[in-house]
Amino acid sequence: MICGIGVSRGCAVGPVALVSPAAGVDLSEPPTTDALAAMQQVRDALQQVADGLRDRAARASASACGVLEADAMMALDPALLGSVEERLQAGAGVTAAVYGAVEQYSAMLESLGGYMAERVADLHDVRNRAIARLRGLPEPGLPELLEPSVLVAADLAPAETAMLDPAMCLALVTFQGGPTSHTAILASGLGIPAVVQVGVFEVASGTVLAVDGNTGQVIVDPTPAEQAEFLARQARRAAMLMDSDAPGATCDGHPVALLANVGAVAEAQAAALGSVEGVGLFRTEFLFLDQMDAPTLEEQTQAYTAVLAAFGARHVVIRTLDAGADKPLAFASLGPEPNPALGRRGLRMGQLREDLMDTQLQALAAAHRATGADVWVMAPMVGTVQETEWFVNRARSFGLPTVGVMIEIPAAALRARRLLEIADFASLGTNDLQQYTMAADRLHGELATLLDPWQPAVFDIIAAACEGAAATGKPIGVCGESGGDPGLALVLTGLGVTSLSMAVSKVPAVRTVLAAHTFGQCQTLAQLARSAAGPEQARAAVLAAAEPVLRDLL
Ligand code: PEP
Ligand code: MG
Repeated sequence: MICGIGVSRGCAVGPVALVSPAAGVDLSEPPTTDALAAMQQVRDALQQVADGLRDRAARASASACGVLEADAMMALDPALLGSVEERLQAGAGVTAAVYGAVEQYSAMLESLGGYMAERVADLHDVRNRAIARLRGLPEPGLPELLEPSVLVAADLAPAETAMLDPAMCLALVTFQGGPTSHTAILASGLGIPAVVQVGVFEVASGTVLAVDGNTGQVIVDPTPAEQAEFLARQARRAAMLMDSDAPGATCDGHPVALLANVGAVAEAQAAALGSVEGVGLFRTEFLFLDQMDAPTLEEQTQAYTAVLAAFGARHVVIRTLDAGADKPLAFASLGPEPNPALGRRGLRMGQLREDLMDTQLQALAAAHRATGADVWVMAPMVGTVQETEWFVNRARSFGLPTVGVMIEIPAAALRARRLLEIADFASLGTNDLQQYTMAADRLHGELATLLDPWQPAVFDIIAAACEGAAATGKPIGVCGESGGDPGLALVLTGLGVTSLSMAVSKVPAVRTVLAAHTFGQCQTLAQLARSAAGPEQARAAVLAAAEPVLRDLL
C-alpha cells in the first residue's frame, strides 16, 4: 500500500498505463562514423514522430488539431534536418545531433520573440519524442489508452489532464503534484478519482492498481479481496449521501449555497443538470489552454452564452482570464519571470493586456444581453483597493451588473471590508490564499505540510476576510479546493462564508455533512480549528467534535 493525497473523490481498480518521462541525450552512444546511415535513422525517427502527431491531430479538437499539425511540420523542417546532418558529419551521436540541432533552432526562434519564441516548447516536445524513438523508449507524454486504465505519471500538465477521457482513464496517480494544482482540479472536474504525491514508485505497465481518491491510498497488485473492498467502499460512501437536491444549509436552516466549479462548456452544461445552485467559479482560461492565438470575441461570446443559457435563473460567476504561473497561456505570455507565482499573473496580466481584458468583458456583456442571465464577473489575484476600483469600473463600463473580486492574496483578505465597499461580492481562492499565506509554491510536492489546507493561519486569514465582508453585508464565497472537502466545508461555514463552490462530484458529500450540523456547531468547529497548534491537530480536533457522518464519509 502506498499513500498519497486524495484530491478527487472515488475508488477505481484497473491496469496501469504509464506516462513516460522525457529521456535526455544517450550519454553512452558511440560517435557517428557512417553519417549517411545515421541520418536515415534520424529521418525515420522524425517521420514516425510526425506521423504520430498527425494521427493524434485527426482525433483532436479543432484548436488542438492545428497545434499538433504545426508540430508535425516542425519535425520535418528542412533547416532542422540540415543542422542534424551537419552534426552527424562532424561525428556527433544520433541523439546528441538531434539535441544540438534543436537547441540551435530554439535559440533562433527565441531571438525572433513573440509568436515564434512561443514555439520553443513545441520544438522541445518534438525533440523529446524523437530522442525517445532513437533510444528505443516509449514517447513521453500521454499514452494512447486501449482499455480503461489507471494513469501513472510523475506529473501531468493541465493541458494533458484536460484531454483525459473519463471513460478510459479510471483514475490518476502522480508521484508529484500538489492538491491544489490545476491538474488535480481538472481531474475532479472530470470526475476522475485522483491521488497525488505518492512519491516515486516502480510499477510496470499493465500491473493492477486499486486507488482511493478520498483517502489517498493506492494498492499495487491488490488481492481479489482488496479489490472488492475498494469497490465496496465506494458503495458504502454513496449510501451515506443524502438523496436530496435541496439548497445547501445547516440542519437549523443557515443557508450556504452549493455551487459548481467548471472549466469547459460541456462540463458546465452537465453541471447544470445536477443539484447545484449555480456556478461559483468558471475558470475561463481552461477554455484556451491549448490555444496559440487569443480567442476571438465571437468565440468567447458563444462559449459564455452557452454556459449562461444552461443555468437559466441560477447565478453564474465567471472569472476573467487567470493566466500565468501554473496556468500558462501561450497567447497571454508576457515572457519568462524568475517567480511566476509572484509575477504578472491574473488581474496584473489583465491590466497589462487591456486588449485581452476588454475583449473578454465585451464577450461577457454580449452573453449577458443575449440570455438575460444572472451573471457575476470577478477578477483573479486582486490585491488592492486601486486594483478593485480599476476592475469594477471597467466591467461596469461594459454593462456588467454584478462585479466582484477574488480574495487570494492575504493583503486582500485583510482589507476585505475596503474592497467590498467597492465590489459587489468576494470569492476566496483558498488555493492561492494558502500558497501566499504560507509562502509555499502550491506545486511544490515537498512543501506538503505548509500547503495543508488545515493550517490554522489560513483559517485566521479567512476569518479576517469574512469579518470584513460581514461588515458590508456582501456575499463572500469559497471557490478553492477547500470548499469541496466535507470537514473544511464545516469549518468555512463556521468562519462565515456564504457559499461553497466545488467540482460537482464533491457536492453531495458537502450537502450531507452540512445538513448534519447546526450553524453553532460549525462555529465551534471553526474555533477549534483556529486554536489548534497545527494542521494535524486542527483536523483531529474537528473530526473528534463533528458528527460521526463526517468520519464515515472520509
Ligand atoms: C484558488 O486559487 O483557490 C482558485 C480558485 O483559483 P485557481 O485555483 O484557478 O488559481
Ligand atoms: Mg487562484
